[in-house]
Amino acid sequence: NNKKVSGFINRYRCKDGSYKYIEWQSQPGVGNFTYSSARDVTEKKQKEQELQHLSYHDQLTGLYNRQFLNTIIDDEMTRSENYEQKLTLCIMDLDHFKHVNDTWGHPIGDELLKLTAETALEHKRNSDLLIRFGGEEFVMLMPGTNLDGAIVSLEKIREAIASMNHPVTGKQTISIGIAERMKHESFFDWYKRADEALYRAKRGGRNRVEASV
Ligand code: GH3
Ligand code: MG
Ligand code: MG
Repeated sequence: NNKKVSGFINRYRCKDGSYKYIEWQSQPGVGNFTYSSARDVTEKKQKEQELQHLSYHDQLTGLYNRQFLNTIIDDEMTRSENYEQKLTLCIMDLDHFKHVNDTWGHPIGDELLKLTAETALEHKRNSDLLIRFGGEEFVMLMPGTNLDGAIVSLEKIREAIASMNHPVTGKQTISIGIAERMKHESFFDWYKRADEALYRAKRGGRNRVEASV
């Protein structure tokens, strides 16, 4: 063939199970000849994957970050409409977290954030996406889950966090607001309902789950 190929990358699986990425360049030569060259781009590919991982994850907790949620949310909403599956969102916010920082300092606060993230990860279901949305606020997107299912799930997470015991700070609780997405609801309105539920959980005494109905 006499087509010019440049930058075609394919992947080889090595004996040890790792992958190598090879980039091919080829161009027509004299007569029937084609000049081809292959270059190992495994390191470059790994760098790209590392960068993508960094841009979609939170450094402190290792959870997904807000940028990741922004990237996937439209697809998730479309998918749930196409498959007629419920989609539920919850916001979790640590209770009196400013007090933790003020009393024991920011590094201990960070530790507690990590511990909270780990505990939530451990108790969530596989299909739930846990995101560190901002400071001490986490969002969980629950595809294929209706409001009642979400409440059961989040009560478990809330209890697991309430029974943690940090060697320095002791007990920590979280408040949770939940909203099941209504048909054709925008992310903005949907998030706002979850946030209003969270506000009710706080006002109602914290360490509790409130749902938007
Ligand atoms: P509430 O129960 O009403 O949520 O009270 P709160 O003190 O948790 O709420 P507030 O929003 O007033 O304070 C949140 C605090 O979280 C403020 C800030 O000091 C702390 N915070 C935010 N991000 C981080 C972080 O990355 N590390 C640490 N250590 N603290 C953080
Ligand atoms: Mg907050
Ligand atoms: Mg808080």
